[in-house]
Amino acid sequence: MGKDYSLKDAMDILNERVDAILAVDAAADSYKVLSKKGIFTDFLEDSGSYKELIEKLWFHFNDTMDKITEDYQVFIPTFGKFTGKYSRRLKLVINDIPYAAQMSIYPIDENNYIILLDELDNSEYMKDFYTSEKVNTIQNTYLFSMYIDLFKDSTSSISITEISDETVHSSVKYSEWRYMIVNMIWPDDQALFMERTDPDYLKKNIAPGRTASFDCLMQNLEGKYIWVKLIFSRSETNNSEEDFRYVFMVQDIHENSVQLMSTLKKYEELASKDALTEVFNHGRIETELYNAVEIAARTDRAVSMMMFDIDYFKNVNDTYGHAVGDMTLKHFAYMLGEHFKKLNSVIGRWGGEEFVVVCYDADAEKAFGYAESFRVAMSNEEFKVAGKVTCSAGVTQIKAGDDFNKAFDRMDKALYTAKSAGRNYVKLL
Ligand code: GH3
Ligand code: MG
Ligand code: MG
Repeated sequence: MGKDYSLKDAMDILNERVDAILAVDAAADSYKVLSKKGIFTDFLEDSGSYKELIEKLWFHFNDTMDKITEDYQVFIPTFGKFTGKYSRRLKLVINDIPYAAQMSIYPIDENNYIILLDELDNSEYMKDFYTSEKVNTIQNTYLFSMYIDLFKDSTSSISITEISDETVHSSVKYSEWRYMIVNMIWPDDQALFMERTDPDYLKKNIAPGRTASFDCLMQNLEGKYIWVKLIFSRSETNNSEEDFRYVFMVQDIHENSVQLMSTLKKYEELASKDALTEVFNHGRIETELYNAVEIAARTDRAVSMMMFDIDYFKNVNDTYGHAVGDMTLKHFAYMLGEHFKKLNSVIGRWGGEEFVVVCYDADAEKAFGYAESFRVAMSNEEFKVAGKVTCSAGVTQIKAGDDFNKAFDRMDKALYTAKSAGRNYVKLL
């Protein structure tokens, strides 16, 4: 050794070399800069709020300085409490230039800390910095993870991939954490979240070595609701009386979920559509009729229903063939759709050349008016090949005390009456 360094020399060197030294009073939410240089000269205000300092130094998105949505800021005080020495790497973007820094925290007591900050100037760190984004997108399917000990009611090793590759120091109890996170869950899923994260539920329902999960919509750090899978995995144990340790993870399943739901929706649509005319099929319009009767019974909305039947349709088939019959049915259904678009209504093919329309917020008079004007439009329409085609309809408003059969029979009877009256006719019952 060339020189016999003393502690005083070391102190002088540290004093000269450490880029920034801060004193924090966590209880008073304040900090004071004792010394600063280099990148920290402009970056750090001489004094200010400790909470804002945390946000600025590490509670921001991993590779940018973008702020995390307001709701997640409830965690800042618990992520900024230190009882022992602590050190972590920081990623800072100052004037669009990325920097890596090292932060060391020396607690003096429960609320007072000394923070040392140093810019890391080794180019190796910067290489890490630039590659981490790529690595992250692979790891990012797990947004969040932590260890839970239900016996001690503690959380530890919290990792938020979007904030940092390193774990976050936190002092939050599991029982408190649940109530802090529940606000980030989509309102309709909050009851499920509280049930499945309940300590007694976890103890009872997840055996040692087993994993359980559920899916829900949760706000991400940008404040956008996404589909996530919440996973609890219990540690193997020989002492199940007192040992309740779990790994908890949040997995981003948004893209797959959205895709799956749109596929399901497509199949559901296909399953409820009539292939020829593209209006609802028999099964679906029957369900709609049952719903209509229920809605009319439960609310004071006026709901009406009607059945159209093409007149002498057998003649169209017999004269021009089945293909022309099909074409005529398609044309008829299209016209029906266009006509009833103006009403809050659903249309389905009951069978053959019979179509049902359910009209919401339409009393008998209004529904009859629409049916009658459709009949007139039909009688004036020139169908391709088939030429003139007319139809008849039975109309009824769903009344108090109606069940499905009662309402349907009245509509059916009205249609029968219209046919008996000579066709090209609408009857209201
Ligand atoms: P009405 O005025 O009494 O209603 O006489 P109609 O001839 O329309 O009544 P009917 O019930 O006797 O005949 C209905 C015809 O509809 C019989 C059947 O060939 C035809 N039909 C039913 N479904 C289809 C279909 O999908 N395509 C075609 N082209 N014809 C169909
Ligand atoms: Mg018929
Ligand atoms: Mg007919």
